[in-house]
Amino acid sequence: MTGPPITVSGLVAAHRCPLRYWHDLARPPAESVRYAVAKQVAAHLGDDLDPALVWEELTVVLPGIDPGARALAEAWTAACRGVRPFPFVLRDRAVRSERLGLAGQVDGVAPDLSSCAVVRATEAPAWGVTSADRVRAAAYALCLEEERGKPLEAVLLLYVPSGTVRRYLPQPRDRRAVLRAREVARRVEEGRLPPRPPDAPCGRCPYAQACAGGARSGRSILC
Ligand code: SF4
Repeated sequence: MTGPPITVSGLVAAHRCPLRYWHDLARPPAESVRYAVAKQVAAHLGDDLDPALVWEELTVVLPGIDPGARALAEAWTAACRGVRPFPFVLRDRAVRSERLGLAGQVDGVAPDLSSCAVVRATEAPAWGVTSADRVRAAAYALCLEEERGKPLEAVLLLYVPSGTVRRYLPQPRDRRAVLRAREVARRVEEGRLPPRPPDAPCGRCPYAQACAGGARSGRSILC
C-alpha cells in the first residue's frame, strides 16, 4: 500500500459512517474520560482491584480530571471485581499491516501473538460483539496475523462498565467489513465522500449536532 496507513480507530469510524471519519480527520478526537477510566480499571484486574488506586492514577493520567469521574471509576471498579486478569500484561502495543495499510495500538497482546485484548468503555451488548467491535477486532487480528504468520486464536474484548469479557474470533464477514471500511476511508481522504448511509447511527454520534447544523456538515456535504 502507498500513503500513510489508516488507523484502526479511523477504520472503525469509517465503518460507522463516512462523515464521522471526515469529522475525525478534521478534528482528531482527544481520549475521552470514559476511556481513560476503563483503561485504568483494566490495568488492575484481579482480587486487589482498588478504586482509590485507580483514581489516584487517573489524576496522573488526566491532570484536571473532573472529580465527578471518581464515581465512574468506583462503579466500574466494582463491576470488574470478579473479572479474572488476562493471561498477559495489558500494555499498549503498536500493530501494523503493511499489506492492508493499517496501523493502530491495541490494549494488550499475548507474548506468542496468539491473542490480543481490547478494552471498551461501553456496556457489553446483550450477546455477542457489536458490529463496530467486530471490525475493530478483525483489524487488530489482521495486523497481528501478518506479524505472526498465521491467524490469531482469539480477540478478548473487555467491556469495563459491565465487567464482561467476550472472546471473539473474527469471521470472514468481519474481514470483508474491514476491506469495505478501508475503501470508504481512502475515498474520504481523497475528498470523495460517499452518500450518508441510510442507517447512519446518528443517535449515538458525537457529531450529531454538527451534522444537523448545515454549513460544512453532513447535510451540506452528503445530501
Ligand atoms: S451524525 Fe450521523 S451522519 Fe453525522 S457523522 Fe454521525 S453518524 Fe454520520
